[in-house]
Amino acid sequence: MNLLGADPVDDLVCSARGCRAEASWGLLWNNPKLHTPERRKVWLACDEHRGSLSQFLEVRAFLKGVVPVDQLEGAAS
Ligand SMILES: [Zn+2]
Repeated sequence: MNLLGADPVDDLVCSARGCRAEASWGLLWNNPKLHTPERRKVWLACDEHRGSLSQFLEVRAFLKGVVPVDQLEGAAS
């Protein structure tokens, strides 16, 4: 477990549907119906999709934070 409590990430590719851009941001989120409170799921986002993806999570009150991808822990490390 890393500093953020975030799940490890694989390829740093944007999570938006159909987007293959390199991700610059990690959106940390938690669905209290599915996850324990300290769990942080991670969506990756390029600059273009950071806004729409974070808004999607924010309206559901799932969004916990947005961090640069270099603060995330890779699955291989
Ligand atoms: Zn994207």
